[in-house]
Amino acid sequence: MSTDLPERLMALQQEIRACAADWQCPPPSLVAVSKTQPSGVLEVAVAAGQRVFAENRVQEAAQKWPAFRAWYPDLRLHLIGPLQTNKARLAVQLFDVVETLDRLSLAETLARLRDGGAVLPRLLVQVNTGEEPQKSGVMPLDAPGFIDVCRNRFGLPVAGLMVIPPADQPPAPHFALLAQLAREAGLATLSMGMSHDWHDAVALGATHIRLGTALFGPRQAA
Ligand SMILES: *Cc1c(COP(=O)(O)O)cnc(C)c1O
Repeated sequence: MSTDLPERLMALQQEIRACAADWQCPPPSLVAVSKTQPSGVLEVAVAAGQRVFAENRVQEAAQKWPAFRAWYPDLRLHLIGPLQTNKARLAVQLFDVVETLDRLSLAETLARLRDGGAVLPRLLVQVNTGEEPQKSGVMPLDAPGFIDVCRNRFGLPVAGLMVIPPADQPPAPHFALLAQLAREAGLATLSMGMSHDWHDAVALGATHIRLGTALFGPRQAA
């Protein structure tokens, strides 16, 4: 699977540039979603030039990434899974971007870590645009107030928004809503689009697309 990874990475980069050119927007960063991928695969991806990766579990990232990061100081790691407050301290050390700021208790915990001297990662607020009960993220109506509290009460480095649209709906309206919320809040970073829907996300202004299977192939069941 990993043997043709360099070719796939190059083809994807090309496809992303072409898609962005079609929509006359800057190409988004390809965030390589490396959850469940073993170190050998990461090594191939890093050797092929990929520098931005994402994991959905703090523990898994802690096992896989510190050794690589020692060798490649320009690697950037995003957290794209829910963050429990009791793992926040470790997450702050491991990640450059936490894409899943989704509740006040987490905002409060991060602010406390910062007050204690921690350098916080850049933060994205996850928005539950589909208002799905089982999904994390703030409700769209609550997003402006939540963003305001994070920035102004807690002084957090909120850089943008992230969404995972409902699996059973066309994604474009969700991407459009996320873009509108970001615009209204004056936020520049838009993490939206996965392997099956990133073209739509690029058309609607994604700055980061999160690709797992399109790059690495199907995942083993976790
Ligand atoms: C797994 C995951 C992805 C990547 O999904 P693919 O369909 O494999 O591209 C993107 N975003 C989040 C939040 C994920 O958990």
